Amino acid sequence: MSDTSVLTRAEAVERHRLLDVHTVHVDLDLTHGQELFGSTTVIRFGCAAPGAGTFLDVKPAALHWVVLNGRELDVAALRAGRFPLTGLAADNELTVEADMAYSHTGEGMHRFTDPADGEDYVYTQSFLDDGPRVFASFDQPDLKARYTVSVTAPQQWTVVGNSLGRQVSPGRWEFAPTPAISSYLVSVVAGPLHSVHAEHDGIPLGLHCRRSLAAHLDADVDELLEITRQGFDHYHRVFRHRYPFDSYDQCFVPEFNAGAMENPGCVTLRDEFVFRSAVPDTKREERAMVVIHEMAHMWFGDLVTMKWWDDLWLNESFAEYMAYSVTASSTRFTSAWTGFAADRKTWGYDADQRPSTHPVAPGTVDDTAQALQNFDGISYAKGAAALRQLVAWLGEEAFLAGVNDYFDEHAFGNATLDDLLRALAATSGRDVHGWADRWLRTTGVDTLRLTDGRIEQTSADGTLRPHRLTVAHYRRTAEGALEQAGRVPVDLAADATVTRPAGAELTLLNDTDLTFAKIRLDPGSWQAVRSSLGAVPEELARAVLWSAGRDQVRDGELAPGEYLRLVADHLPGETSVHLVDAVLAFAREFVVDCAVPPSGRPEALAGLAQVCRTLLRRTEGEPGRTGLRLVAVRGVIATADGEEQAAELRDWLAAGTVPGGPVLDPDLRWQLLLRLCVLGAAGEPEIAAELAADPSSTSQEGAARCRAALPAPAAKETAWQALFHGELSNYLAIATARGLWQPEQAELLEELTARYFKELGPAAGRRGPALARVLATAGFPAFAATEQTVRAAEACLADPDLTAATRRGLVDQLDTLRRAVRARALTER
Ligand SMILES: [Zn+2]
Repeated sequence: MSDTSVLTRAEAVERHRLLDVHTVHVDLDLTHGQELFGSTTVIRFGCAAPGAGTFLDVKPAALHWVVLNGRELDVAALRAGRFPLTGLAADNELTVEADMAYSHTGEGMHRFTDPADGEDYVYTQSFLDDGPRVFASFDQPDLKARYTVSVTAPQQWTVVGNSLGRQVSPGRWEFAPTPAISSYLVSVVAGPLHSVHAEHDGIPLGLHCRRSLAAHLDADVDELLEITRQGFDHYHRVFRHRYPFDSYDQCFVPEFNAGAMENPGCVTLRDEFVFRSAVPDTKREERAMVVIHEMAHMWFGDLVTMKWWDDLWLNESFAEYMAYSVTASSTRFTSAWTGFAADRKTWGYDADQRPSTHPVAPGTVDDTAQALQNFDGISYAKGAAALRQLVAWLGEEAFLAGVNDYFDEHAFGNATLDDLLRALAATSGRDVHGWADRWLRTTGVDTLRLTDGRIEQTSADGTLRPHRLTVAHYRRTAEGALEQAGRVPVDLAADATVTRPAGAELTLLNDTDLTFAKIRLDPGSWQAVRSSLGAVPEELARAVLWSAGRDQVRDGELAPGEYLRLVADHLPGETSVHLVDAVLAFAREFVVDCAVPPSGRPEALAGLAQVCRTLLRRTEGEPGRTGLRLVAVRGVIATADGEEQAAELRDWLAAGTVPGGPVLDPDLRWQLLLRLCVLGAAGEPEIAAELAADPSSTSQEGAARCRAALPAPAAKETAWQALFHGELSNYLAIATARGLWQPEQAELLEELTARYFKELGPAAGRRGPALARVLATAGFPAFAATEQTVRAAEACLADPDLTAATRRGLVDQLDTLRRAVRARALTER
């Protein structure tokens, strides 16, 4: 919504000085049809300077009524989401009555009609500054209040909120007052929900999803509740403060933009986490981590909330670090840190090397629009890696003691980075502020390189960051395998010397992945990696090595062909699903699709297909390897090329199974059909038949993707119109964008690539930040890695009218594009 104001930090400081919000009553009426819902808010608040004025945040479709202390105000005074209030008393009562619009972009109150059964569902996403699209408030994190929510809903609906609620009469729901919470955390989920109730340690638990997913949720209830219990037990063991809210509901909701949202007692999670199809165990691990991440927020974020958005990292980095740490130590997913190294951390490395990077803890975030752009790989992945480094330095005991003091001091209030650092410094006796200055207040990834027995450290900004890490040596066994010949801890600030034991062939810095840095090996060690990467015994060390290969390709130091040779030589024997999945994704999406010149693409794709087929053969008849087999099957489908392989895929689809398993479920069927559409071996009749057989939302997205992927000008134009000129929901927009651009169809897409940079700005501006992100990222023609595309993107960025979200997406895509162009040049040279 471009017609609303952004809140500046200065305004928030002033409003905090002036106001003390006591209670907020929110009454929503969800019985007004598909477009609008009723919203009445009563706010009781104090004012430190009677007679002064301020403003209220409200973004209604129609504002009916504003009454301040019995005085009716002129609703026409509403401007760009703000309503001015003047002549405040020491104690005030403000009543606001409005009609609000449902959203289809996951911002505010999202409404969704399930194509499987026609049932409607709604849920709020109040995060950052979308709360006023649901109810009027003084919308900033440090004006906490006790919220009492009531909802009128269709009689057959269930309504879930932050606190315990009950249906007091048919369709009328009332919820208990919450403790003091921030406005961006107020949440309501409603619809004909399928619900499962349980209890743990005195806490009522709920799991909810839409009705059409009931069987799939039921199949996983035990696992989800077990993770939830393990999470609570862990947190109750390490935190002195008990879980601060009266119940814990986890609601799986449709078309959700993020992974999940930490609303106190009413967490919302994307309902792709209710698995409709077979998934590798890594996906279950990811879901477990999201559950544990959101639970961490109940303390870090909800009990104690950042004062302003510049400390967003306080929320996300902490929750992210706890998610990996607790998942690895307290659930069955003990290799969570391998997933962090192989996949999640690359998000942070990539982000930290882009022009858009920022400190983990930026000194200033001037307004809410800027804050939204910082919700990225720096705040999550780099921040979590930095915390892991901090724990390695302080020790876990001192770290948790400091965190507990911080909770005690600021419970139900707000805090800043400095508050946390002071607590950690007090419990550890270390110079935590000095550490934070170098790790959290700066930008850029250090490179650690082993040269002549010393670790050479270089950084983009000249900061010498302290690193705690381990260094491992490997020597060759008589059978030709590698074995560890010692591991030593290194404190880089004290001593950078590394002594290689006699006979060691490979020395690896950061082999346990304790620090956040790019690793470069000495020439001899790299030679050993090329011949024997797969023989390195620990999967975490292999993850660090694959990551080093990855960023050498992105840095233009390793030719794409060389990387693909590593993949061909060492991936077929890999046992870690994390590694196979992450390496195949990078090899396909960046290396083959973008960094290999078009003339070499068919051969590169065939090479990758060969790797996937070898993995498929290797996993035949191995029931314990279903995860690996699933990843291999997906790889075979995604790399299929030519008539013979298309015919094979058609046979699988007709038979409903891959020979030797797995049986095709909806995800695999749609993936197969997509590949056939790209190759021109299937079309509208097959898409329509598939959709008729299963009209679920998964199928709607699958069909949108397949239709956009058809190699015909009319299909491309239809997809284009829908994407840039239509009203697609966020999810259908992503599906359409992903179908549209196919490297196989470069010639057909040439004209659209040029058009993209002309139409992006206006379309993204029209549809708001969530859709802008979709259009600027999933919608970006990444495969067209040429100087011409680089220049077109640069010209587009020169447009001063681009919104912040569009600009940020484009800047980041351009960075990746430039890297692909540079990698191509390595081959073409
Ligand atoms: Zn989070």
